[in-house]
Amino acid sequence: MAFKISTDCIACGSCLPECAAEAISEGTEYYTIDAEACIDCGACADACPVGAISEL
Ligand code: SF4
Ligand code: SF4
Repeated sequence: MAFKISTDCIACGSCLPECAAEAISEGTEYYTIDAEACIDCGACADACPVGAISEL
């Protein structure tokens, strides 16, 4: 399992410092999560103001 960022992402950056696994990176338009690195903790989803992060 891993979390995923949808196209609702407004690239605010709030999720980035929340990820202990450093699985989140700044994409060209939306932020992205490396599914291999994600440890499925859910911290980023709680930090997202627009609810763009959900479980795959
Ligand atoms: S669920 Fe946890 S490990 Fe996965 S991207 Fe979000 S903060 Fe990082
Ligand atoms: S917190 Fe949500 S809106 Fe902000 S960069 Fe992360 S996924 Fe995008």
